[in-house]
Amino acid sequence: MRSFSWGAAGVGLVAALLMDSGAAAAVGATPSAAVPSYRCIVEQPMATPRPDRPVYALRVDIRPAELRVIGLTEVRFTPDLSTDRLVFRLWANHPVAGAPANRETVGPVTVGGEVVAARLTDATTLVVPLVGPAPVGQTIEASVSWELSLRAWKGDRISSTGFGLNAAVRLGSFFPILAWEPGRGWVLDPPIRGRTETSTTPTADFVTTVTVPDGLSVMATGVADVSDRIFTATAVRDVAVSVGRFRVATGVAHAPDAVQVVVGVHSALADDPAAYVRRVVAALENQARRFGPYPWPQYSLALTPDLVGGIEYPMHVMQGPNSIGRSTPHEVGHMWFYSLVGNDQGVDPWLDEGLATWAEVGSEGTLGAFLAKVVPAEGRGHLGDPMTYWDAHPAAYYRSVYVQGTQALASLGRPAEVDCALRDYVAANAFGIAHPVDLVRSLRKFFPGAARSLARYGVAAVT
Ligand SMILES: [Zn+2]
Repeated sequence: MRSFSWGAAGVGLVAALLMDSGAAAAVGATPSAAVPSYRCIVEQPMATPRPDRPVYALRVDIRPAELRVIGLTEVRFTPDLSTDRLVFRLWANHPVAGAPANRETVGPVTVGGEVVAARLTDATTLVVPLVGPAPVGQTIEASVSWELSLRAWKGDRISSTGFGLNAAVRLGSFFPILAWEPGRGWVLDPPIRGRTETSTTPTADFVTTVTVPDGLSVMATGVADVSDRIFTATAVRDVAVSVGRFRVATGVAHAPDAVQVVVGVHSALADDPAAYVRRVVAALENQARRFGPYPWPQYSLALTPDLVGGIEYPMHVMQGPNSIGRSTPHEVGHMWFYSLVGNDQGVDPWLDEGLATWAEVGSEGTLGAFLAKVVPAEGRGHLGDPMTYWDAHPAAYYRSVYVQGTQALASLGRPAEVDCALRDYVAANAFGIAHPVDLVRSLRKFFPGAARSLARYGVAAVT
């Protein structure tokens, strides 16, 4: 467990990237790349986290027998634009079919230690007025007490199954979180009905303290202290928690710095944790060679029942049983495309899903199979559409965004060169929130006609 500091580490990261780039590209070329001699030269230095990022202290008291979680979100927030409010998103309340509404309720909300009148403008949006506009650069301290019901929503990111020592709890997108984009302000994308993300959050520092009944273990975003109950994470945009009794296997990935890989398989499942460790290590090493260093000291993966595929969070991924196939490298891909380089998941879902699929395909050597997949008519030419569109066309979402995103990138040129452009994109936008224009800026360095090429797939012209 090493601590993480971004001062000197950030500079070292840049140097490593530049020194490493030639050799890294030769090794890191995608398996399908037919030109092993390609040398990736990225002069773009790796961006470092903003020093004024939010600092959270989360308290999460998980009571599986009562099917509820009691929590407290405390945050120190320093806006880079003037604002007269705070906006917390309560994604736990997003309207999924079959799940009760208002599963998360909020109790007292404080600003500067004083209780204030906050209001829900919709089920997922908590607005906290400030007394007059807060000056730019002034730190605001706020807290939100909350309670989350675990009833009747299985198979997704907020879930509880089993009881006693057989309990398995997943918590993702579960606590009130600031929806701020530096340079832009509050992000108010509407929730959708589908089981996918529409969130946008800035990277932040988190200390998460989890309470669970005796006999249960906790896996979560961050590095655990000796009690395995307090998790510290630096420069991540969200936190997820998995609870249960796990069979654990560990390993080390060189990505290129040592990354501790921890896989826990819930006691109700038969999967082999060591096999998943091998898959995660291989994917982390492959993708770090292609897209740049994995910047956190740990990657944990929890397998729990009643989940198909995987759900990504920074440093912590949730997967279901028998997901060792394409889900495992795909969720690793999200560490670069969503976790490290964030995006507005409501407006530009292809930026994380298309690119994570590209990462997966390169790790697996499956580009040919993905190029052969047919994109449905309602999705063809709609790659750049927002989640509101896919909410109306859910059956077309995967092939139109994940597959078509991969096909659009492949249309640009050699896979190794696309990887190199994505390495540039990651370096330029690390720890930030990127938009299509940022991706096109990097792609154009390698493919001058990139904007025209992407337009054919439905990415609106960006300059
Ligand atoms: Zn994905």
